[in-house]
Amino acid sequence: MSRAIVQIDGNNFYASCEQLINPSLKRKGLVVLSNNDGCIIARNSEARKMGIAMGQPYFKLKEKLNKLNINVKSSNYELYGDISNRLMLILRQYCEELEIYSIDEAFATLKRPRNKQLSKWGKELRSIVYQNIGIPITIGIGDTKVQAKIANHIAKERGDSSGIFDIGIIENKDDYLNRIRIDNVWGLGKKMSAWLKNKGISNAREFRDMSSKEVKNKYGIVGLRLQNELKGKSCINFKAKPSDRKELCVSRSFAYPIDSLEELQQAISKYAIIASNKLRQNNQFASSITVFTATNRYSNDFFRSEATARLEIPNDNTSIMLKTSQELSKRIYKPYRKLIKAGVILHKLQSNKYEQKILFKEEHMQKKSNLENLNKVIDGINNKHGRWTISWGTSILENDSITRREKLSHLKTTKIENIPTILAN
Ligand SMILES: [Mg+2]
Repeated sequence: MSRAIVQIDGNNFYASCEQLINPSLKRKGLVVLSNNDGCIIARNSEARKMGIAMGQPYFKLKEKLNKLNINVKSSNYELYGDISNRLMLILRQYCEELEIYSIDEAFATLKRPRNKQLSKWGKELRSIVYQNIGIPITIGIGDTKVQAKIANHIAKERGDSSGIFDIGIIENKDDYLNRIRIDNVWGLGKKMSAWLKNKGISNAREFRDMSSKEVKNKYGIVGLRLQNELKGKSCINFKAKPSDRKELCVSRSFAYPIDSLEELQQAISKYAIIASNKLRQNNQFASSITVFTATNRYSNDFFRSEATARLEIPNDNTSIMLKTSQELSKRIYKPYRKLIKAGVILHKLQSNKYEQKILFKEEHMQKKSNLENLNKVIDGINNKHGRWTISWGTSILENDSITRREKLSHLKTTKIENIPTILAN
């Protein structure tokens, strides 16, 4: 029995989430804006048909959107994260291994039955997801990750309502691969596709059939892997556990520039709290921490600064991350700079299974276990009652006040007070 690789993707995910909690947005144009209502990062199919492009600055399109009667929403990552968790939970039950690739995308492995047909499985999964979560998904199936991505692309392009395409069962794939533009082959960077185009290679089929030696000479093992994946030889590993990650970054842009150390420290504290919480969820420790900040890239006196510290022992402890990031914030801060972005990066992540102990420090161990218990209590309260129900003093100012979200939908799935009241007489 052979193994199939599946790629599952939520259709117009952010827009679908918004429509889910507000059905009156369905069948009308809808776009979702990036942080601070900057530009368009998602749109539904109706908005796409009306010619609204991705990545456009909102202020330039405001009038057009208004004229076309297209609804506009600020991004609501709390909502999308919650719907994503529910989606992945269902996928986990229906697949063997699952690699969560992004908020709305996952790779999975599955045994191919003797008759090789997986369309019945796919159809069932789509209807279960739709029934339980209300989000439409597209399923691409192949022998490798690259093939599964291509199959997903074809399923979307075909525009029929099946939402599934299995390229693995197609004997001669040439016709399909001929239609995949080289820029749409997953994993090829801009440079590599430009190099290929220069050589006259314009689609996936031509790339698959070109000289491997030439690919290897120019792009080494990375290029060769992609080419082999197109040929159906699986070479890109499956990362079933988030603990395979080596780095974790939490960063945000502000709605308006800040210039005080206090505000910078509050923002950085918040990101350090989110990052250490993610670390604990992934069962990982970090060995070092970087904080950074920057002014507007397009300003005349562009300024960016960062500072890194190694942690004495790899750990996942919020209070240690907070203390370290506060010290680092002082180092990156320069007065009179209009800062518009800041972030925290945790590096050299490792599994928390192997814990380094400081020998002969009884007092240290006691303190450490107290801090661990404190983190558990805080995580427990926040998991139950919603993020930021309880937090650390250094992040006390509601950081959202420096994020612009004018068109934010109500959080209907992550806060108890947002649950609608139904009156039955
Ligand atoms: Mg998607």
